[in-house]
Amino acid sequence: MGNPLYDRLFGIHAGKDTPFLHLPNGQSLTHAAFLDMASRIANALNGYELEPGDRVAVQVEKSPEALALYAACAQTGLIFLPLNTAYTTTELRYFVENSGAALVVCDSATEAGLTPIAQANNARLETLNGDGSGSLMRRALGMLPAFAPVQRGSGDLAAFLYTSGTTGRSKGAMLTQNNLLSDAETLVQQWRFTQDDVLLHALPIFHTHGLFVATNVILASGGSMIFLPKFDLDDILRLMPQATSMMGVPTFYTRLLGDDRFTGDLARHMRLFISGSAPLPAETHERFETRTGHRILERYGMTETNMNTSNPYDGERRAGTVGFPLPDVELKVTDPDTGETLPQGKIGIIEVRGPNVFDGYWQMPEKTAAELREDGFFITGDLGRVDADGYVHIVGRGKDLIISGGYNIYPKEIELVLDDQPGVLESAVIGVPHPDYGEAVVGILVAEPGQSPDPEVILANVQSQLARFKHPRQLIVLDTLPRNTMGKVQKNVLRNSYKDLFT
Ligand code: ATP
Ligand code: MG
Repeated sequence: MGNPLYDRLFGIHAGKDTPFLHLPNGQSLTHAAFLDMASRIANALNGYELEPGDRVAVQVEKSPEALALYAACAQTGLIFLPLNTAYTTTELRYFVENSGAALVVCDSATEAGLTPIAQANNARLETLNGDGSGSLMRRALGMLPAFAPVQRGSGDLAAFLYTSGTTGRSKGAMLTQNNLLSDAETLVQQWRFTQDDVLLHALPIFHTHGLFVATNVILASGGSMIFLPKFDLDDILRLMPQATSMMGVPTFYTRLLGDDRFTGDLARHMRLFISGSAPLPAETHERFETRTGHRILERYGMTETNMNTSNPYDGERRAGTVGFPLPDVELKVTDPDTGETLPQGKIGIIEVRGPNVFDGYWQMPEKTAAELREDGFFITGDLGRVDADGYVHIVGRGKDLIISGGYNIYPKEIELVLDDQPGVLESAVIGVPHPDYGEAVVGILVAEPGQSPDPEVILANVQSQLARFKHPRQLIVLDTLPRNTMGKVQKNVLRNSYKDLFT
């Protein structure tokens, strides 16, 4: 039976002196050295009296050791559960309790706060710091660099990944070995990754984008990554000449475009720029092409399903769309009320089915039943449509849909018009309670640097472009939109701030 996830992503590199991680200090780690590190950690984990299937909750800085801990969990059959480094101790209590973690690995700085939480949940607590120090590695360094992988099947659980919590409380998505492997193998082919690739990796590794998309694709292809602790413009500009490809959230691209040092020359040799996790504005896509000659490849996925759709490698990468369903993914657009499949072109809820779709939410049977159909289709909660050429367009989240005076209003349509207005950098459209209409449309604007957009002028412009029921009742100018660490606009935060505007 073996251990498919470990064997195919990690084991295949055994003994290879090929580079895997290029670190900011100029040093590199080979595949062989990385696997040695993982095996030492696996031996250390083995001494903690854990059973395959136990959860290992990990809130640590991005480091080679943190990635080796992921490999070691695959090797020992433990379930890897990475957590956002921004979560506070109070928030961590929920994740430790909810997951029933048997081991918690944290930074020394948060050890004191986590000790009572670990104790209350009978979990062991170990430390791992960004520089590789801490109790876990102290123990691992005394271990042998060899560990026979525990037998696992492709249907066994490999990871719990909590959703970003953009629309409500984070849910623990149970991901199997095959969920992760099938996606990695599909994406390597779709995006043509090979052992010659050097990926500029500035994403966090606690989220599906940086961990299961970026890292697994590089592992499956045999390429290497420039492994940066975070997105730092100076580092990205300095290191891009050594890279072949980059994966990022839309804000990476807007920040690059905002810097004059980011020139066409600097990007010309690159093979591929990929964007996801939040919508890439069509305008950013176009400006990027004008500056560099590259068309960013946008794709769409989520914690529960890994990747679902992608723009094509060859063929038109269409701005404002997330491309086509991946080869083994079925996608349909359904009526939110009846669940019936809608005709092509109609807006509805996107549902997906395939080997990438998770096993359900951990200990949330009602949520699982509400979102995962018995026939295997996952109800994503995203609203979208498929155009005549088969490209999927995301028009927003179901929870962000505005219903005003009985009409359905898709925020994206209004945002596109607002984004085009003089002096407007970006916008977010929300619905807030209104005594007559149920909800009223409110537009939040962010000004371009040095500009001060005039709400009166913009309201007048918008009126000629949108049907009356879609007109914003009010426009508000803010310095920035509230975003979470993955660059997602937190509309629930905006809705809450302006909930009393009309009441
Ligand atoms: P929660 O489910 O807890 O509310 P979340 O949905 O933000 O949080 P993630 O799984 O990190 O958690 O994000 C997946 C969501 O991100 C998708 O459902 C979709 O709304 C959005 N998304 C991802 N890629 C794209 C994209 N290319 N364009 C538009 N939206 C995207
Ligand atoms: Mg979600």
